[in-house]
Amino acid sequence: MAETIKDILKEIHAGRIGESGLVRLLSLPTHDEFQPVFDESARICRKHFGDRVYVRGIVEFSNYCRKGCLYCGINKANRRVGRYRLTLEEIFNAAAFMKKQGVLTVVLQSGEDPGSDALVLDAVRRIKGELKMAVTLSVGERDSGGYREFLRAGADRYLLRIESTDPKLFKKLHPDDDLEYRTQCLYSLKKLGYEVGTGIMVGLPDQSLESIARDMLFFRELNPAMVGIGPFLPHQDTPLRGRKNSDIFLTLKTLALIRLLLPKSNLPATTAMGTIDPTGRQQALKIGANVIMPNFTPSKYRESYKLYDDKICVSEEYGKCASCTRGIARAAGKCIVRSKGYSKSK
Ligand code: SAM
Repeated sequence: MAETIKDILKEIHAGRIGESGLVRLLSLPTHDEFQPVFDESARICRKHFGDRVYVRGIVEFSNYCRKGCLYCGINKANRRVGRYRLTLEEIFNAAAFMKKQGVLTVVLQSGEDPGSDALVLDAVRRIKGELKMAVTLSVGERDSGGYREFLRAGADRYLLRIESTDPKLFKKLHPDDDLEYRTQCLYSLKKLGYEVGTGIMVGLPDQSLESIARDMLFFRELNPAMVGIGPFLPHQDTPLRGRKNSDIFLTLKTLALIRLLLPKSNLPATTAMGTIDPTGRQQALKIGANVIMPNFTPSKYRESYKLYDDKICVSEEYGKCASCTRGIARAAGKCIVRSKGYSKSK
């Protein structure tokens, strides 16, 4: 390799890295060879966040979805999943419970279910008014009028993964979606003043390293407050059943490089990382992640929000995720902080 890893890291810090440099790092085949990058991403994360890990509690409040994303276990074509939508009381109680456990940010996530927008508005108003928590929404694509209404109700953040910026791959995986529109949604969320989170799945069928590198360059351009990276995992009731699981190493390499490109962004150690490898989230926290997102969905609904097979925490006792989260942070040499974790990247 003509350029050493050190040279490429310098290019990244100077803001000059391009697709080929990123691909070269992504293609390093062993942990040992990639270790200098992990060391650097861990150093940058500590520089900005110390040993602090922010917690965002998730409530998966509806699995109704109007979209047919090929990889997703709750896509509209899956007739084997029982559909549910929580009541306002159930959502509020889940948020109140997490606050008691010291979690000050709630993420309300669902399939793309515009039928629940009135419920979302009520939930945001009530959680902001009575619990004073930070609220993140992760409910898919809306027009800017819809996003503005959520914002007026009090939502602070919005999570919308681009999933992949590769036009061909995006089209193949999202037969009823449009990459340009999804991109516009992200820019319109930003313009409205949300703390915007985006992200991708790593290891999708037919996804190249070049494509992941271009996703990363897109993140650098958008400069989001948060980037969620998850390995692709197949679901038995989707068209991608039987496809190969992604691997944790490629996911971690991607996360480390994103930490270098966006030093101050919030990067979660995702549930999918913990599913693909029992120590996936600990490993992620060690090399650059600074957020963890325990599940506070009431137990009886969790089985019906399986986005992929073998999702962890589905049969776990309600409330256990908060203590489990502390253990994961500790195992990574970090500690959970009681903070709303507002973005440092503005
Ligand atoms: N409907 C909202 C949206 O479109 O942004 C949010 C909910 S969506 C179910 C949450 C995320 O789960 C997606 O952005 C996707 O990256 C991830 N996901 C879905 N299916 C997955 C799979 N099979 N493997 C890994 N991640 C998956």
